[in-house]
Amino acid sequence: MPSSHYQTQKKQTLDSFLAFANGGKHPKWPQEIFLDITRTCNLKCIMCRTYSAGTKHIPKKMRSFVSPDAFESSLKSLLPYALMVHPYVFGEPTTHPQLRSYVDWLSRYEVLIHFVTNGMKLDASFCDFLVARSVFAVTVSFSGVTSTDYEQIYVGAKFNQVLEGISRLTKAKQRQHSPYPLVFINSIAFRSHLDKLVEFVELMAGYGVNKIFLTSLAGFRGFPQLNEKITVFRPWREGQILDAAKKRAFELGVELDTTQFERSKVENENEVSKVHQAMILPPPIDEKDDLPSTSKFTPPCCEPYVTLFCLRDLEVKPCCLTVPSVSFGNLKAQSAESIWNSPRWKTLSRNILTDAPRSICNNCFGISCRPFNHRLKEKYRYYSEWFRYRFGIPFYPEIKPLVDTVPDNQSIAESHKVSSHFTHKLSKISGFPKHLFFVLWNKKAQDWITVIMLHITSPKEAPPWLTKFKPNNQGDRNVRGHS
Ligand code: SF4
Ligand code: SF4
Repeated sequence: MPSSHYQTQKKQTLDSFLAFANGGKHPKWPQEIFLDITRTCNLKCIMCRTYSAGTKHIPKKMRSFVSPDAFESSLKSLLPYALMVHPYVFGEPTTHPQLRSYVDWLSRYEVLIHFVTNGMKLDASFCDFLVARSVFAVTVSFSGVTSTDYEQIYVGAKFNQVLEGISRLTKAKQRQHSPYPLVFINSIAFRSHLDKLVEFVELMAGYGVNKIFLTSLAGFRGFPQLNEKITVFRPWREGQILDAAKKRAFELGVELDTTQFERSKVENENEVSKVHQAMILPPPIDEKDDLPSTSKFTPPCCEPYVTLFCLRDLEVKPCCLTVPSVSFGNLKAQSAESIWNSPRWKTLSRNILTDAPRSICNNCFGISCRPFNHRLKEKYRYYSEWFRYRFGIPFYPEIKPLVDTVPDNQSIAESHKVSSHFTHKLSKISGFPKHLFFVLWNKKAQDWITVIMLHITSPKEAPPWLTKFKPNNQGDRNVRGHS
């Protein structure tokens, strides 16, 4: 068994996020890093916002490959702390001639490597390589139970070729006695596909798939041929199909996650058309087209505290959905670590968390595909299982109870909002002292018992425990523990 060189750093990342989630400072390191290694693809899937015949958002001149060297020096201080790295953003990673170099480079940092692929290039040697490097997971985009169903969606792909690729990966794992890479399927809820979901679960189980994610189809304006295939979640119809598919998945030992699709839930037939319309996206917009200030994200977004996206032009952002013109920094000029810790990143993160939507998040508004949670529990589980497999020892089991009780996005936003308002207001009062002393009277003991010193200059400098102060429903200041 090899020895781990970075387990302490990974633990520090988890500790840092836990402190932030409980009201503390911005996490010191991102948990996940995305690398936009290519914007080329060998397909033209009908629902693809980048490569479909119905859209031309990425000019041909941008469809190139980025070499690992372009990212290497600027990321080397963050990678020891990262838990997961995804070498893909917009294109098909298996078209990159240096994908194996990426995997070799990243695997030195003991990160979970995961990418999404259309599965057309899963040949025997590549599958053996992925297993030998203990790549964490490969997600294959796949919808349809027959070649006709599948090939009219994934234009240019071959149904049998992709299934054979998945089968090769499963057999390579069996040969090397490895559970990795896990095989995930990203399946899109086209109306006709959803009707055959039970059959689809059976098909995927037969190929050794670990987990199927069912996600909503997002349409685009001016593309009625696509938009008419959108379906929403009606509990009395699609709910029954999902129940049957989940039952079958359980029997066959496959996980079926339909959470994202179920966000399109309607209560009655009258709501169908409204929700359907909301799933048809406008073309990407920019900062100047700001949304009404009354618009809010529910739940709030924690992505800038979790992820770092390094784009093809080396611009850095917290996610792929922020408007194209905004940049949080560029790796040509700064290291990724200095961008993550810059005042600009921290200010924008806080604004997104507590006041979203900001203009930079315009493209995200109304799209239910953004992460609704920070996913810490899932990442800890995935990392500790993978770590035990790779190094033969447990990964800090003592922090599991803390991870299991980590607050959700909504609670995190509330605690940080209160911290911001409270300390900001105090710091704005002219002549307000920087240091405050409180002497508390213990009524029961009939004695002075505690002296507390506050150091208040700005919201960023508030001590973490202060974020536990929260207004009550009447707007008064109140003190209560963060639940
Ligand atoms: S494989 Fe992915 S990137 Fe390529 S066209 Fe299809 S959806 Fe788009
Ligand atoms: S709200 Fe949307 S666009 Fe803004 S950071 Fe979060 S995921 Fe990205």
